[in-house]
Order: sequence, then structure tokens, then C-alpha cells
Amino acid sequence: MDINSLVSREDIQKEVDKNKKGGGEMVDSRFWRIPDGKSAIRLLPRLESRVPWRTVYSHRYNKSGEKLFGTCLATFNKKDCPVCKKSWKMWESEDKSTKDLGYQVRKTPRYIMNCYVVSDAEKPENNGTIKILSVGKKLFELILENYNSEDVGPAVFDATNGFDFEINRKKSGDNPDYPDYSSSRFTHKKYGVVKTWSAIEDKLINIDELTKEESAEDLMKKFSFLGFDAPMTTPKAEPKKTVEKVQVKKEEIVIDEIEDDVDKEDVDKGLDDFKDIEDELDAL
Ligand SMILES: [Zn+2]
Repeated sequence: MDINSLVSREDIQKEVDKNKKGGGEMVDSRFWRIPDGKSAIRLLPRLESRVPWRTVYSHRYNKSGEKLFGTCLATFNKKDCPVCKKSWKMWESEDKSTKDLGYQVRKTPRYIMNCYVVSDAEKPENNGTIKILSVGKKLFELILENYNSEDVGPAVFDATNGFDFEINRKKSGDNPDYPDYSSSRFTHKKYGVVKTWSAIEDKLINIDELTKEESAEDLMKKFSFLGFDAPMTTPKAEPKKTVEKVQVKKEEIVIDEIEDDVDKEDVDKGLDDFKDIEDELDAL
């Protein structure tokens, strides 16, 4: 039997590519895109950690239409991210364009967790499903504030007896690119939205598996236009036989996609991020 007559690498790649949207962007339906207007969700715990969310730091840059995205090494508790160091150095520059570029490629956080969609303002077909929620600083601070409050507390993450998180996404007046989430709130609902924990437990998504670590070398290659001082490592000799790999880079691209949704707060707080970088560099 010739396995190649039964299994085709080309056809497999085509099948994998089916999930790609125009422009080669992969869309992962597990992620929930926050729609405009009022929607309601329940935030959920996760099984792989007793912290319900995972903080993912990233570096992004729009290089004349080409979206660059790199997962910052800080995501994996590493302090030697080359892009962080470079962006901080550039930020210290007297030259305005260098300073601006340093600011643009700084690391920014997203907080990623499971949620149960109660009511989706745009896609009611999502109601009753478990999705991955990615929020910026503003919504995250609101979640944490409620978690730390006496009225809501740990019920923030309680699917069966907890609160609905009503997210109100509005276009802000001064800059239409940045949504305004300031009127989002937790609202108590008496009726059981999710009846039992066992009904959803096996549907929870492993957040840790979503983020893939990139090496410092890969990050430097990707952001080479910043002009790193350190020499690149010499490329390894090509192996004699190269097997073309079927590319499923879902996780990385998905996070890139959701990263577009930067809320204004992220931009306003950019200086705090630089403070973080400074602290980290001091700690080296
Ligand atoms: Zn970094």
C-alpha cells in the first residue's frame, strides 16, 4: 500500500487553510469578539489554574500594512525580552520618531479567561456557549475591583450563583477607534443562567495551551527593523531532508486578532507599561 495515494499533504494543508479568512487570517471561533452595545456573560474559573485569567503580554506593530505580533517573554515570566529592552531604550531617546516607535512596540497586556455567553448583542447563536474572553486593562480593572468588593466578591467567577457581567461597548466620542466600556457592570440575576457546574465543566477551554512561547531570536528576527545591537545567532545548517510541515498557527494568530481591540485605557496607561519595563531592567 502506498500511503501517499491515500493521504495527501497538499489536501491536508487545504483542509487546514479552510479555516482561514480572507487575507490569510485565521479565525478561531472559540474567541468571543465583544460586540457593540450591551451583551451579558458569566466569567468562569478554569481547571488548569486557580487564577481564572491568564495575562498575555504582546508586542505589536503595523509595518506598512503588515501586522507584526510577538508574544512578549514576560508572558512566560522571563525578564530578558529583547523587544522590551529595545523599546525602553528607544523611548529614552531624544529623537521624537525613535521615541514614538519605542512607544508603539512596547509590551501591552491582555487578560484572557473563559466566559459563558448569556446574551450576545450581535450573534445570538453564541448564547449558551463557552468562549474565550480577552479584555484590556480597563475591563480587567473593573473585574478585579468587583472581585475585591464585598457586594460581589468571588461570585464574579461563579457561573451558577453569580452575577452577569454586562458589557456595554460604545464608540467613544473623541476617537472612534477606541471603544468605551465605562458603563459595563455586574448585575445580579436570581434565576439560574447556568444550572449546574457539571453542565459546563467539560467545556472549559485550557487557556495555558493558547499561548506559544517564541524564542528571543525569533522575536528579534520579527522586529529586526528596530535595529538590535546584539548579533543574531548563526542560522543552523539545513537538514538534508526537510519535511514540509502542515501549518496550524492558530493560537498566535488568534491573539493577534483580538489584540486589535485596544481600548483607550491601554493607550493612556502606556507609560505605566514603560515603568514596568524599567523595573524589569533594574532587576536584571
Ligand atoms: Zn517584551
